[in-house]
Amino acid sequence: MKIGEVLVQARECLRSYGIESAMLDASLILSHVTNLSKTQLLIHEDDELDIEVIDAYARLIEKRSKGYPVAYILGYKDFYDIRLKVTEKTLIPRPDTEVLVEKALSLNPKGRVLDVGTGSGAIILALKKHLGDQIEAFACDIDMDALNVAEENCVALNLDVTYFESDFLNCVPNEKKYSMIVSNPPYIHPNDPHLRESSLPFEPRKALVSGYDGLEAISILTREAPAFLENNGYLLIEHGYNQAIAAQRFFKAAGFNFIQTIKDYGGNDRVTLGRYTKK
Ligand code: GLN
Repeated sequence: MKIGEVLVQARECLRSYGIESAMLDASLILSHVTNLSKTQLLIHEDDELDIEVIDAYARLIEKRSKGYPVAYILGYKDFYDIRLKVTEKTLIPRPDTEVLVEKALSLNPKGRVLDVGTGSGAIILALKKHLGDQIEAFACDIDMDALNVAEENCVALNLDVTYFESDFLNCVPNEKKYSMIVSNPPYIHPNDPHLRESSLPFEPRKALVSGYDGLEAISILTREAPAFLENNGYLLIEHGYNQAIAAQRFFKAAGFNFIQTIKDYGGNDRVTLGRYTKK
């Protein structure tokens, strides 16, 4: 079968399963299997494909048709201006999290910056890439498999980040304080029907769901962060579209000032931040 025909068949298959990005996914996955760029696939649409290649492709298209995320099939996801390796052990970085990165950069942090629950490493690696020697970068995660992926990404991007295995801030050293703490923690309510949709059923549950109401991680972070922050240090946390009021309440209760919430690209409340001034 020819490349062009294989692509059309895959697209139709994905469409019949209700995959909205059928054409894009079909060609991304074929690029992955053949090592040909999307443009090369177009140029070579009349070339015949080996049966082994078609078989391998068919297996991946079948996986995708059941909702398995493209990022896990390809093994990477682009985030901000970096490409990150992702595996089933890491959340797939979302464009929404880029607003957290933008906001953090706009505050021009200097000194020690810490990413809590770094996953594939998205936030801290994007910050370190942009701020260079202006910051000393640290990150932690409770999951060793995720940390291994984060460290691989760090090496591949030739950046310098120190990693800790830690449940929230429990095992993070705090003799030297941090000028900024950033986090995209789990925040989805355990009964949220979205957990059955899109890529979520395939992503690590502990990176998505928090406590009995989705707010546990945000509550813990706002309580633990002040002991780790320098005077006037910042805490920035991503949260659900309907969690801004609760998040602001946690920030207030923990003694933060200049509390504000910013929206994601879809216009939803997504990140709350505050500054901690020592008494
Ligand atoms: N923003 C993701 C989603 O709703 C969840 C990420 C998270 O829980 N931190 O799909």
